Formats: sequence, C-alpha cells, structure tokens
Amino acid sequence: MNVPLLDIKQQNEALRPEIEAAIGKVLDTNGFILGNEVKALEEEIAKYSQTKFAVGCASGSDALLLALMALDVKSGDEVITTPYSFFATVSAVTRLGAKPVFVDIDPKTYNLDVSQVEAKITDKTKAVQPVHLYGQCAEMDNLREICGKYGVPIVEDAAQAIGSEDAGRRAGSMSEIGCFSFYPSKNLGAMGDAGMMTTNDEALANKLIALRNHGMPVRYYHQWVGINSRLDGFQGAILRVKLKYLDEWTAKRKVNADRYQKSFTDAGLAEQIGLPFERENVRHIYNQYVIRIPEKRDELRQFLTNNGIGTDIYYPVSLHLQECFEYLGYNENDFPESEKASRETLAIPIYPEMTNQQQDYVVEKISEFFS
Ligand SMILES: *Cc1c(COP(=O)(O)O)cnc(C)c1O
Repeated sequence: MNVPLLDIKQQNEALRPEIEAAIGKVLDTNGFILGNEVKALEEEIAKYSQTKFAVGCASGSDALLLALMALDVKSGDEVITTPYSFFATVSAVTRLGAKPVFVDIDPKTYNLDVSQVEAKITDKTKAVQPVHLYGQCAEMDNLREICGKYGVPIVEDAAQAIGSEDAGRRAGSMSEIGCFSFYPSKNLGAMGDAGMMTTNDEALANKLIALRNHGMPVRYYHQWVGINSRLDGFQGAILRVKLKYLDEWTAKRKVNADRYQKSFTDAGLAEQIGLPFERENVRHIYNQYVIRIPEKRDELRQFLTNNGIGTDIYYPVSLHLQECFEYLGYNENDFPESEKASRETLAIPIYPEMTNQQQDYVVEKISEFFS
C-alpha cells in the first residue's frame, strides 16, 4: 500500500471543474495582479480569521518580512522568536539587519516557551514573533500579557495555522500582525506561492498595502521603500474556491488525529512514540501530525519509506545552528529542547483524503517496527 505524506492531486482533481471556472473568470477580466478575486479573498480571510483587515502578498515568507517592515524593524533591533521553525521565520528578521533573539521551545507543544520570553526583552526588542507550529497556537494569553507590559508588538507566524484557535480567538487575530502562507502543503494551499497578513489596525493595514507594492500609497509616490510582493489573481481565485472546503478538511484532519491517538494507544505504543499534545481550549488544525521517536527516528523513517509511507522531518536543524546564521554566535546546546526536537520528531500522513485503511496501515507498520 502507498500512503503519501500529502496527496494534493486528489484534492485538486475533486475541485477541477470549480477551479477551471475560477481561473477562467480571471482570464476574462484581466485580473492578474491583485484584482477583484484577491480583494474578495482578502475580505473572506479577514472574516475567517476574525480580523478587520487582510492584505494579500506573494508568500508567507514575504508576509513575515512585510510585517516586520511595517513595524519599522531595522538594523540593530532585536526580535524574539523560536529556533524551531521554518527558515523564513528568522530570515525575515536578519534580512532587515535585525538580530533574532531565540527562546527555547516547550518540548510538549514545540512552540516558543513563553515563560522564557520576559527575560530576553531589552530596550532593543522591536517585536516578538511566536510561531503556531504544526497548527496549534502558541500560548497567546501569557505572551500578550508580557508584551503588553513592555509595549512590544507581536507578529504571529500563522503560516501553518489558518483557522487554529486559542481560547476561541483565531490565529492571526491575537497580535499586531498575523502572517499566513498558502504554499501548496499548507491546509489552505494555492497552486503556486501566495501569502496574507491580517491586522485589526487600520494604519498598519494601509502601510502593508503600500509596502507590498513598492511603498506607494499613491501610484508613483513612494512613502517607503517597499517591495514587489503582490498576490497573483489566479491564486486568489483558486484560494477562494478552496476556502469553502477548509473547515471540512480541518475537521477530517482532526478525526484522523484522534484516530491515530486511539490506535497508537491501543497498540501499546504510547510509550515509544511521543504523541502530539493538545493544550486545553484550543482548536488544533493539524497541518502536521508529528510524533517523537527518542531513539532510531531515522531508522523508523527509512523503514516507513521502504513500505511506501511518506514522512518528513520538520525541522532537522535548529535555526540557531544553520550555517548562514553562524555570525550570530550561537552554539550547540544553547537551545537544548529545540535541538532535541530536531533529532526526534517525525511527521506522518494526516491529510484529509487519507482512508481508514491507509491510516491503519501506517499504524501497523510503525507497530511492526517497534515489535
Ligand atoms: C510555510 C511557512 C513559512 C513560509 O511560507 P511560504 O509561503 O513558503 O513563503 C513561514 N513560516 C512557517 C512556520 C511556515 O510553515
């Protein structure tokens, strides 16, 4: 049996007529750059994320960069964030000449350990950037309290967390700016690159609208040095088709997660593999289902590959140890939980279209490996 980590083809095939019609509409109206479809998508994402404004851009990476630009992060500033994330979380900071100040992760949720943030705040701290990793929100209540006390803005990296909730509030609505990615493997995936920023602050929304288009609030009058990061009209139209199905897909991911939880427990494997931990009062959207294998993670991965099961490691190298960040002066053991996670985690298939038979096969093969 074959169980890929993700099967986008199956999802796209089911929506093909709707997607072709949506693409046709863009062709007919020449709405290639931004345009009506993107505008409508921005309104829909703002509503979906419980924010007043949403501003489309070219990718999740750009969303993070534009958010920090809008907050005037520049050379010499500091941004507190996690070393256990996708590279763009940190490159957005260093690209502006600012310094990423890392805080280790909570080993249960893999998210920023909020209890360590306050000690890292200095008068150079321009923002705190939590990541809602794998689809579960970071502990936003405590973080908001700390940041509020020091007047430090928060930028949420919600790239993996569209529709995720912390105490009833949606990802992207709990900070100055929320950043989303529509990379094809995200829960809401485009057919190319695309991203979005959410905010409740009108001045910030207007600045983001200008910054994504060369910093010109009025055509050819440049108030800031912005960039070209506009959302493509085709992607906007495709995302609007897919958004209608997002809650259905998210519910199916959750069913799959609960089913894994039960199957692994019934198989007596709960000891050997660390199952995902859901905090109380959250909506986890399971962009990834990540287990923790303290020993022989790589052997298990190879075994699963040999048996037709797709897996991946998010992420194999903690960001403070990346070659390009050597100049920051971080060392091994600086963030032990992040480093440990990079050696132990393994993402296994959780996608909505996965059948029960496929899922049972994954559990069976993992059981076989440990027996
Ligand atoms: C995917 C992702 C990004 C980057 O998004 P792109 O659209 O690929 O540029 C940033 N941060 C996290 C945590 C991500 O998962």
